[in-house]
Amino acid sequence: METTYLVFFFIIGTFMGSFYTVVGNRLPKNISFIKGRSHCDVCNHTLSFIDMIPILSYIGLKGKCRYCNSRISPQSTYMEIYTGELYALSYCIFGTSYKLLIAIGIITMLIIISISDINYLIIPDEIIIFFSIYFIIINLLNIGITETFKSFLYGIILFLLMYIIMLIGNKIFKKESLGGGDIKLMFIFGLIETPLMGIVSIFIGSIIALPISLYLLYKNNEHIIPFGPFLLLGLTLVYMTQFNDNALFSFLNFYT
Ligand SMILES: [Zn+2]
Repeated sequence: METTYLVFFFIIGTFMGSFYTVVGNRLPKNISFIKGRSHCDVCNHTLSFIDMIPILSYIGLKGKCRYCNSRISPQSTYMEIYTGELYALSYCIFGTSYKLLIAIGIITMLIIISISDINYLIIPDEIIIFFSIYFIIINLLNIGITETFKSFLYGIILFLLMYIIMLIGNKIFKKESLGGGDIKLMFIFGLIETPLMGIVSIFIGSIIALPISLYLLYKNNEHIIPFGPFLLLGLTLVYMTQFNDNALFSFLNFYT
């Protein structure tokens, strides 16, 4: 029953998306995301289970708090739908495998870091440390100690590469061009992809970020753009399409 599993992964994804949004909002403020019930930001009323069902509560309450009638941000609801879709898609592509666990890890980082970087311009160190350990453990189980060591070196290569890009960017723009979080994130990219695919991910992320940052610069005069979500979007696309070094080389051969 493939469809049953897809629906199952979508529903689990929506609940996880709701949780990731809480984590992404609380970590930058150093609030525990395990303790402390969710509450309305305006009237502080504690939310009951019925107020926190992904997607359905927002629709049922017409986007308003049950207790004080103030508007609720749809951000969490978007993230619930987004996570649900990505969970179902990952299962569709990878089935039950180590690759599914890697995809779920990437999606989790994508959602938490999107929330924290967009809302607070922070990529929490806790997230970097947690996922470094997560991917190292999965690599050890999946590809063995030699390949895991290789992925560790890939991580260091991508980290140093991004660090150099930052130094050059700082010289050109005469201000901080990349956040420390973006650079640390590159270590995790190396644990998942080859250095070449890491660079492709950065490239794709930058292409997606460019029109959006120009729009924000033009509309709100916004000079600081969170880059983490775009980098992770690039990584998600590369990983989900299973694009790799060989595919890139045959692509380049075809056009030269
Ligand atoms: Zn309220």
